[in-house]
Amino acid sequence: MRDDIAMYTNKELDEKYHYDGKDLGVHCTETETVFKVWSPLAKKLELRLYREGDGKVWLNKEMQPAENGVWQLAFPESLHGMYYDYLIWRDGEAVETADPYATGCNCNGDRSMVVNLRLTDPPGFEADVSPKRGEEQIVYELHIKDFSYDKDSGVKEAYRGKYLAFTVPGTNGEYPTCMEYLKNLGVTHVHLLPFFDYGSVNEAGDEKQYNWGYDPVNYNVPEGSYATDTTDGTVRIRECKQMIQALHENGIRVVMDVVYNHTYRDDSWLQRMVPGYYYRYEEDGSLSNGSACGNDIAAGRAMVDNYIVDSVMYWAKEYHVDGFRFDLMGLLTVELMNRIRGELDREFGVGEKMMYGEPWSADDSPMEDGTRAALKKNACYLDDGIGIFSDDTRDVIKGHVFYGEEPGFVNGGENLENLVLHAVTGWKDGGAEFCPKSCAQIMNYISAHDNYTLWDKLVLSMHGDNDFSSYREDVLAANKLAAFICFTSQGNLFLQAGEEFGRTKFGEGNSYCSSPEINMLRWHQTVEFKELVSYYQGLIRLRKKLPGLCDKSPSAVSRIHDKKIHKDGVVSFCLNNCVKEHRGQWDELLIVYNASSDSYMVDVPEGQWVILSDNSEADCERMAEKEIQVHASSGMLLGRKVECV
Ligand code: CA
Repeated sequence: MRDDIAMYTNKELDEKYHYDGKDLGVHCTETETVFKVWSPLAKKLELRLYREGDGKVWLNKEMQPAENGVWQLAFPESLHGMYYDYLIWRDGEAVETADPYATGCNCNGDRSMVVNLRLTDPPGFEADVSPKRGEEQIVYELHIKDFSYDKDSGVKEAYRGKYLAFTVPGTNGEYPTCMEYLKNLGVTHVHLLPFFDYGSVNEAGDEKQYNWGYDPVNYNVPEGSYATDTTDGTVRIRECKQMIQALHENGIRVVMDVVYNHTYRDDSWLQRMVPGYYYRYEEDGSLSNGSACGNDIAAGRAMVDNYIVDSVMYWAKEYHVDGFRFDLMGLLTVELMNRIRGELDREFGVGEKMMYGEPWSADDSPMEDGTRAALKKNACYLDDGIGIFSDDTRDVIKGHVFYGEEPGFVNGGENLENLVLHAVTGWKDGGAEFCPKSCAQIMNYISAHDNYTLWDKLVLSMHGDNDFSSYREDVLAANKLAAFICFTSQGNLFLQAGEEFGRTKFGEGNSYCSSPEINMLRWHQTVEFKELVSYYQGLIRLRKKLPGLCDKSPSAVSRIHDKKIHKDGVVSFCLNNCVKEHRGQWDELLIVYNASSDSYMVDVPEGQWVILSDNSEADCERMAEKEIQVHASSGMLLGRKVECV
């Protein structure tokens, strides 16, 4: 029993009970099992063990108080495969809770599982290494269920919508799908929408359920509905590792979408462990709601930050995850983000793990004193190894995300020429209401899971009708130009899965819980949109060949010169493509965007120039004349043959 604890303020808890040990949760080996939790307000804490995920208590044992609010219990044996939870006594009441640090859980995650993690490694996982980091980071945003739910995916039914869909070669006998398709596309990273255990899908329910998964329950456990068996808690762990291993084997790195800004329920395991500590409250005592999901995790408090850091490091080490995308990063703090960057760099090498996030929140949130929100306006305080989604670039290219009919540069918007020429520098030379340290902080993108797909947005803004299924040449051209601008801008590159084959959600702008049929990738579209797919493949190949364009240093902005507005909708600029050990053939690039409805003639500067990209092919090689014709609604890139050596 512990009786020295009265109610403390959160600040006092941080000061008096701050615990920096890395051993919270359960550590299970062949010879011992050690349970540790941080629950400084508890008077008494009992561990309850179960033989099954949903069975009766098998053993009930009191935990021993240790230093700094930690409770512990050790067994001289492996309890691998047992389930457990805690009974916490406080103010004469007992509260049941699963373990927020758990690495395994039962079906639907309301009971934790003891796991000897070495027993969950698929064959060869110990030798699994991430593919080498290349010239550029090109991220493909994908939802696990969307990937293989379609019958045309070629994936057998038992694996459709599951982790294991990534482990099969990927073809339906007629054309490449799934993994084979990803490999051909040439992206360097796959960013997977949340695959920690989330609460909105019943893991015992049917396959027709769907959710994006931004509703965390067990932060350090993979989601069960993507596993082939939810009754044995080790299966989801092994299959999730198999997915990552398969992506690595195919040369693709894995980014995990993480949601540390709020939890599914405010009555979470964290709340039950230490009531009032892990969330932010308004002055009237109500929960703050900057996430628009009912609660905000109180990043900025010592043990909250430790929890988040430990969780990120756990996924990086145990699952070999190569990067993290932080949901509503604006609710987290600059200090926490920089700390995570530092810890990842120390453990894995500088910049080896990618980090980026949404530099905004849904609403204001009462932050801790002395902290700064990781918002766009504070990019200058964030480490330059932390990227932010550039909504400025997105909106200037295709128009506002919420107003379907509102156009951007490629679909009829006016007076955007200057802004487009700022966007290509990642806003490093002004034009936006923030100043990045370098374009390394910029994630260039034109569509993501949120809001309309690019195709739907273009249809709405260019035609104003609901015919999302027709193959429309003008929409196709605008799509290509939008992608061309994105891929010729300085910064990191990000695209939504299917953007490259006219993905439609039939005008649905927020499909987080729509049917899997609305959300899934329709693999046959890769055939119908062969031209667009091949254009994106070309852009990806081309980008990797242009080292000057891939430069992310603070001085990269000075590579861009001779910006010109030729007329409404037509702009161009030059980019110095020389690097120290020149690997490219082109020392200078000329890039032209023509968003107007007429073709336009552009004079080519002195020297021997080659057309490397035009309206039909994104990666070609053709000698240029003194004057080139840039087709309506298209982009062109020319390279000058090396003169500097
Ligand atoms: Ca779940």
